[in-house]
Amino acid sequence: MANSDNTAAVLHAANDLRMESISVPEPKDTEVLISMGSVGICGSDIKYWALGKCGKFVVKEPMVLGHEASGVVVGVGSKVTHLKEGDRVAIEPGIPCRSCNLCKKGRYNLCPGVEFCATPPIDGNLCRLYKHPADFCFKLPDHVSLDEGAMLEPLSVAVYSCKRAEIDLGSTVLVCGAGPIGLLAMMVAKNAGATNIMITDIDEHRLNFAKKMGADHIFKIVDKDGDVVARKVSSILGEPDVTLDCSGVDSSFILGIQVTRPGGKVVRVGGGSPKVELPLTRLNTNEVDLLGIFRYANCYPIALDLIASGALNVKPLISHHFTLLETEKAFLTASDRNSQSIKVIIHCDR
Ligand SMILES: [Zn+2]
Ligand SMILES: [Zn+2]
Repeated sequence: MANSDNTAAVLHAANDLRMESISVPEPKDTEVLISMGSVGICGSDIKYWALGKCGKFVVKEPMVLGHEASGVVVGVGSKVTHLKEGDRVAIEPGIPCRSCNLCKKGRYNLCPGVEFCATPPIDGNLCRLYKHPADFCFKLPDHVSLDEGAMLEPLSVAVYSCKRAEIDLGSTVLVCGAGPIGLLAMMVAKNAGATNIMITDIDEHRLNFAKKMGADHIFKIVDKDGDVVARKVSSILGEPDVTLDCSGVDSSFILGIQVTRPGGKVVRVGGGSPKVELPLTRLNTNEVDLLGIFRYANCYPIALDLIASGALNVKPLISHHFTLLETEKAFLTASDRNSQSIKVIIHCDR
């Protein structure tokens, strides 16, 4: 192998990100060694970097960041049959145990033993060289770029959300939050046949971008009073069959419960407070279903097909590019509202 330098973006603690040389991993029989290409910065990466934690996961030891990734295979374990050196792959970052009941049922995202890139204490792949189980690497067709390969990760979250919400032909959908996940969820919902989609945000730039990407309605949230927002949303959109809360803001999840039609579904895609007071009467009187999302399962192949077939174009979401050594700058850009960034990509091969 030509390159033995393995520079990595290692997070030691909140606001302590260092570019360090780590050892070059040796792939096992069933793994591949990957020369890393594109890695997208996710909201969770920013939380680890800024706060040292994300939800219940806390950074206690130095950890390599990054999990929205693609690269080129440069080493192949002896039992790997579907990949060879030179193949460009997207890397599905969560490796489940494969033998528990949840894994066997196909709900491997819920496996208690899952090891997920850049979720403490598991290292991510913001580095030059990284190894991964070959069956969680998806070969990219020649016309799909490494940047698009990195986008399969957030796109899989969007695909999983829409599948769980059973979005269908003619669905009316409210998407809360016009960040990368909200935008992708909106695009996937449209692809799944939703004909009336509203997306909300507090950021005008993001809403205008959402409009360009196909939202039927955009709604800027300015009112503090949730009931007023709910009335205004309903008067424009009608009653959505599904609300996908991709905002991570409690008031948006509550909005979803207030406006979704009887028998509809509200999906909490983003996070939010661990405890919130909710208007639960609608669950009993209107059978509004509340659903949670934890990452995704079996969605990478679908996400790849959506991009490879041309059904979805995710390229416009990629707003900024940085080299690996510019990782800190990339994080500053991704976390700065004024940068108008949507998806920031770090190129580990530059
Ligand atoms: Zn992510
Ligand atoms: Zn398992």
